[in-house]
Amino acid sequence: MLLMSKPPEEIIRDEIRALSAYHVPDSTGMVKLDAMENPYGLPPELKREVATLVGGAALNRYPDPAATRLKARLREAMDVPAGMGLVLGNGSDELIQMLMLAAGRPGAVVLGVEPSFVMFRMIATLCGVRYVGVDLRPDYSLDVEHTLAALEAHAPAVVFIAYPNNPTGNLFDARDVSRIIEAASGIVVIDEAYYAFADASFMPRLVDSPNLLVMRTLSKLGLAGLRLGLLAGRREWLGELDKVRLPYNVNVLTQLVAEKVLEHPALLKAQAEAIKAERTRLFGLLRSTGGVRAFPSAANFVLFRVARAAVVFGGLKQRGVLVKNLDGSHPMLADCLRVTVGTPQENTRFVDALTETLNA
Ligand SMILES: *Cc1c(COP(=O)(O)O)cnc(C)c1O
Repeated sequence: MLLMSKPPEEIIRDEIRALSAYHVPDSTGMVKLDAMENPYGLPPELKREVATLVGGAALNRYPDPAATRLKARLREAMDVPAGMGLVLGNGSDELIQMLMLAAGRPGAVVLGVEPSFVMFRMIATLCGVRYVGVDLRPDYSLDVEHTLAALEAHAPAVVFIAYPNNPTGNLFDARDVSRIIEAASGIVVIDEAYYAFADASFMPRLVDSPNLLVMRTLSKLGLAGLRLGLLAGRREWLGELDKVRLPYNVNVLTQLVAEKVLEHPALLKAQAEAIKAERTRLFGLLRSTGGVRAFPSAANFVLFRVARAAVVFGGLKQRGVLVKNLDGSHPMLADCLRVTVGTPQENTRFVDALTETLNA
């Protein structure tokens, strides 16, 4: 008997069909300030070392599934407290997915604040886990009372807090975050993707907070192309998460290159310091540009508001500068654009293009 084949709407889950795919615009030939990438490459000497390593890599073999050497380097570079477990991901996006898969019991809820990193909600949806968002206060600080009430009402399996927050750029009050960690009955993940540009971290707090996990990534440090994220915390949590991880998720080249680059912590630190200095300059320029409201940032980007953001976004694009348009993504981000801190030349080009656009 011949079966009639079914259309996608009868096969693909409704919540997946309702999503739009994560959109990455074409940036060929543009000043690319939309994705929080580090604008500085590796110095020529280190590039040559990397090339030699890559040339000698055993590409016919599967990678070390435990990434033992790389983990040892990361523990040191990231000041992971002794005795803590570590799980690596193909970017921290994959770690978010592992958390959803591991904690997504029937009826489980994950909680995030809004506006924040869109992947928390998106990956929850992909994994069939219910997502609850609690709005920040209008000044983008944590609304602790509402968040505590939501913890009580939903008992989320996982709470995600980006520290500093993306796309707002601010660092939440550490006491507010601590109150949430203490009140939560499930896991609290502090996502420190931008730790290198802030002078604060919850990493040392792993020692005295049994339900805390700290997530970091090399993406914003200058290695976005490698795709490497890490999750640190108590072994009783990470041992379970490791079962969800696909065996060879961190490939041979990523392991080799990350190990090598992490031998040079001073280099990454110097690049982060250069970006912080440029952030101060860029923020000052935006502050003194009429019609622009820039929000203070502890990350490697600056959120700013203009009248008719979509038009300004288009004007910048026309002038060869790509930023991120956040207008329409959340009511608190109405007319907001986000610009990554680039090289001094790129930032100057951006500000010139912005001034031209606003005066056009
Ligand atoms: C950029 C970013 C990440 C990074 O994700 P990767 O998959 O590691 O590149 C994670 N969290 C936040 C809040 C980010 O902004």
